[in-house]
Amino acid sequence: PARVMLQVRVAHVGPRHVLVLAEDRTEARRLEAIRRDFVVNVSHELKTPVGALSLLAETVGAAADDPDAVRRFAGRMQQESARLSALVHEIIELSRLQVAALSQTALVDVAAVLAEAVDRARTAATAKSITLDAGGQPGLQVYGDHALLVTAVRNLLDNAVRYSPEGTHVGVGARAVGDMVQIAVVDQGIGIRPDEQERVFERFYRVDPARSRETGGTGLGLSIVKHVAADHGGDVSIWSQPGKGSTFTLRIPAAHLPPQPERPHPEEV
Ligand code: ADP
Repeated sequence: PARVMLQVRVAHVGPRHVLVLAEDRTEARRLEAIRRDFVVNVSHELKTPVGALSLLAETVGAAADDPDAVRRFAGRMQQESARLSALVHEIIELSRLQVAALSQTALVDVAAVLAEAVDRARTAATAKSITLDAGGQPGLQVYGDHALLVTAVRNLLDNAVRYSPEGTHVGVGARAVGDMVQIAVVDQGIGIRPDEQERVFERFYRVDPARSRETGGTGLGLSIVKHVAADHGGDVSIWSQPGKGSTFTLRIPAAHLPPQPERPHPEEV
């Protein structure tokens, strides 16, 4: 059972009366704890690349008369700065999503979102000989922020590529299901164990931290996806089987559905 945190205040309002105010602080406490953890995690995550960079700078200074070593260290410094820059970018993105409601809302063409996200994920996929394609129903529209939706789908595609072996296939498609548009990203990758599936949406949670860092992961991608989905009145869910692959499904309320063909009821035929 969940614990409830009550803040109780008592005031005398007369010789024979007291006023008791009880305020449920459970949610506020939970949010405070999440914020505190976030700050601790952010500092920890930032310290790693900053520490590595400063160490590398020191080493490169000491190796000034060995051009090969200088080149090697310079390469590593470039990698660490790229990681730092990705991390800062995602922290800012997530903070923005946490404080503000959607600022840019308009009718968004889902097929255009998928095409743009696929375009941006193409380089990483090609480097691993992973085929990448977008398909699905044309003409679907949602109401929201085009750029944020591209970011969300792109994060899912980047993960699909990151956690899949070479030569596999990654696909993204969209279709209308009831009043929702479902965008599914499917991979044939390493999959996620059932007991990890809920946790992967937490900030900085990684099933395998070393692997995630090595391949450029920040641990924030899926929490960004979750926020983007929520800000659009939707959600994100996961289906996965270790060793087989994963499917992440974003569900966003449809802005307008293409006209359904009028089909006579079977009994009327
Ligand atoms: P990261 O930047 O580490 O990829 P995410 O928040 O995007 O962070 O994902 C959290 C964790 O979930 C990853 O570290 C990885 O362990 C797991 N994960 C995410 N997507 C997939 C996927 N398509 N296949 C297997 N594991 C995944």
